Amino acid sequence: MRKRELGNTGIEVTELCFGVLPMGPNQCGLSPEEGGRLIKKAVERGVNFLDTAQSYRTYPHIRAALDSLPDRGRDVVVSTKSAAKTYDDMAAAVDEARAALGRDVIDIFLLHAARVDSSVFVEREGAYECLLDMKSKGVVRAVGISTHSVDVVRRAADVDGLDIVFPIINVRGMGILHGTRDEMAEAIKRAAEAGKGLFAMKALAGGNLLADIEGAFSYVRGLDGLSAVAVGMVNEEELEMNLAIFNGEPVPESLRSRVVSAKKLIIQAFCIGCGKCVEACPNMAMEVVDGKARNDKSKCILCGYCAPVCPQFAIRLV
Ligand code: SF4
Ligand code: SF4
Repeated sequence: MRKRELGNTGIEVTELCFGVLPMGPNQCGLSPEEGGRLIKKAVERGVNFLDTAQSYRTYPHIRAALDSLPDRGRDVVVSTKSAAKTYDDMAAAVDEARAALGRDVIDIFLLHAARVDSSVFVEREGAYECLLDMKSKGVVRAVGISTHSVDVVRRAADVDGLDIVFPIINVRGMGILHGTRDEMAEAIKRAAEAGKGLFAMKALAGGNLLADIEGAFSYVRGLDGLSAVAVGMVNEEELEMNLAIFNGEPVPESLRSRVVSAKKLIIQAFCIGCGKCVEACPNMAMEVVDGKARNDKSKCILCGYCAPVCPQFAIRLV
């Protein structure tokens, strides 16, 4: 599989990055052993890049995979992130990752800042300073930020010492804050020209673009400035399908339909109960109960009409 350097970091990653959020307890609830086996299989098939976060609670899944690989998966690049705001909380988050992953050095550590604006660099100054100190001590190889905001990507291009930007982008522009899809694409290009390493999240918009997966990936892979694309995977069918696409091979129809039929709809905890998904659902499969959306599986046909109207990007197909 094609590898690219992430900006000026010297870190080489495969274009397909294994997103280790959906397998964890926040979404699909695979055990560390089950998840570890899937990650191990991906690494054996050539994937060398994993994305996780302190809040995903999937360090045990990655640890299980690393422990089962030759040389403890030394060449596997792990990127993680924390929503810590202060210096001390970020230091604790880095220590937690090192202990839980069984690694002295974390390859990439990011500010986890999905839904905030560019004031993040002021509000989390202490946390960022901590990451820079960790990098100078050799505990972290590269530092950066994950974001849904066009403004943050623009600002990150000029932040000293910042190596990596992990933005959301997809062909429908779903989930992008403070700008359009094309403005995000331009901000990504500019950040790359400024020497930052970029990899993308949500190319399939939380599973909502599965109907044209090749088109969705082709859009993101064709953007200037991105080195890799993080894709969440929870079973072998998804792994096989994504490997085929990123290796330039056709996806058998039977495999594609197995992937789609295994999907389920999840409503994230940050739903604000606005009811927009209820209005958008043609099958009366959504209602708001006690301030949160609830999905009726007996009526839901996984058409995905509800997800694009959600202002919180809270609806996922995993
Ligand atoms: S549209 Fe999104 S935020 Fe609003 S109720 Fe539905 S899931 Fe919750
Ligand atoms: S996926 Fe379709 S059927 Fe299911 S809740 Fe959303 S809009 Fe309704």
